[in-house]
Amino acid sequence: MTPTTILLIKGLAYLFGSITFIVGLKMMGNAKSASQGNKLAAIGMVAAILATIILHTDASGQLASVPAIVYFIIFGAIALGTVVGWMAAMRVQMTKMPELVSMFNGMGGACAALIGLMEFAHNTGEGKTGTLIAILLGMVIGSISFSGSVIAFLKLNGTMGKPIRLPLYNILNTALLIGLSIFTAYMVHMSSQPGIDHVSAPMGLLYGLFAVAIIYGILFTIPIGGADMPVVISLLNSFTGLAAAFGGFLYDNKVMLTGGILVGSAGTLLTLIMCKAMNRPLWNVIFGAFGGSSGGSSLEVDGSIKDISVSDLAVQLNYSKKVVIVPGYGLAVAQAQHIIKELENLLEERGVEVKYAIHPVAGRMPGHMNVLLAESNVSYDKLVEMDEINPEFEQTDVVLVVGANDVVNPAAKSDPSSPIYGMPILEVDRAKTVIVNKRSMNAGYAGIENLLFYDPKCSMFFGDAKKALTALVAELKTM
Ligand code: NDP
Repeated sequence: MTPTTILLIKGLAYLFGSITFIVGLKMMGNAKSASQGNKLAAIGMVAAILATIILHTDASGQLASVPAIVYFIIFGAIALGTVVGWMAAMRVQMTKMPELVSMFNGMGGACAALIGLMEFAHNTGEGKTGTLIAILLGMVIGSISFSGSVIAFLKLNGTMGKPIRLPLYNILNTALLIGLSIFTAYMVHMSSQPGIDHVSAPMGLLYGLFAVAIIYGILFTIPIGGADMPVVISLLNSFTGLAAAFGGFLYDNKVMLTGGILVGSAGTLLTLIMCKAMNRPLWNVIFGAFGGSSGGSSLEVDGSIKDISVSDLAVQLNYSKKVVIVPGYGLAVAQAQHIIKELENLLEERGVEVKYAIHPVAGRMPGHMNVLLAESNVSYDKLVEMDEINPEFEQTDVVLVVGANDVVNPAAKSDPSSPIYGMPILEVDRAKTVIVNKRSMNAGYAGIENLLFYDPKCSMFFGDAKKALTALVAELKTM
């Protein structure tokens, strides 16, 4: 093959990869086409990887002669990664998805950091300023993303419980970030001096920079509260994308550049969407104390709760005209999406209008409830977003809250001392009757009391969502 042909085939493979990433991402915006979009992007990724490996060229543009052992290592590593990734993705429960995402993201960050560590020495010397910027920024950002993601993973799986706040942690972290930026700039400057080459490259300093970046990633993540972890993961995701894009610059690899930019921008947008949904600026997520032990509210609970039996609830639902179901994290934990669909069918057969109220941060990741309900074929037009459903609650006979807590907590509107104050909520207390299904009086993710449960209009329907709804469906069938 001539160098031109190789370049053309490689270019086409990269173009194909880039197009599939963009189209795939677009398809992921809709629950119906998301799975196909994912597969399409994966095909593009395989094409790009194969083109990079098989069409590897030497300095003259000819196919490079690569020892068989190198191919063996590369394909062995790909096979191993595929098996581990496949098994992890197949086994993960929906509620553990943020953990998996943070682990995969951490691996991406580690790859970017390794690229920097490997490529640095070969790219030093006069006139290499641009390349060194790409290498060192990729390494620093990738390292932060790696260590930050590992901490996020440990927090989400419960290994690291409460947020750890060192004294003056905000000042400490800001000073460290400034120090890291100056250190990086200094490394670029000194490594691009005439006479520096791969032998005299300051490797000791490079490892020092790597270590500082790793420490910053840890210190950046440990003070952040558990409930904010999905936002942090999405932010770290955007860092990994950026680090990969620097790798794309370094290798002049267009598909790596496109992939990195897409991950970076998608992560940034997702971060901003979640912040907007919680009505909290990003700085408040990073420097705030939401979802941690210190996030208490000054609320005094006054009043008592009442519970409702399965037969009374069945009668109430049977004679309603309009029922709105509010799904939350507990519905996902209990895997009650199929039984809730059965309840919907039963009620509709009896002429009851049923809708689902979807809060943007219900569950543990954006779109969690949409994906969950899609699994049981709940029709998309029944899923109504918060702004649209809130005015409808006044005409609703029964709101059935299933495993949701923070997203229906009126303290977000009425208690300025509450850590969720300002977060838009589903205003279920405007409905004629509210029924809340959960297992106990335990708090939700933000760890705070919910006065809704003490509202005279509200009754508690205690029990695991799946078991409780199964009993309810059985009762309704007898009517
Ligand atoms: P919450 O975490 O506030 O509440 C879930 C409730 O479900 C708990 O009170 C729990 O009570 C109940 N529950 C748990 N297991 C079961 C079960 N098997 N059956 C029945 N009930 C159960 O969930 P929400 O969905 O209301 O709120 C999501 C929270 O996550 C918010 O604080 C949000 O800000 C945060 N968050 C979400 C993000 C997202 O993108 N979705 C991103 C960032 C943060 P009990 O133990 O008594 O059963």
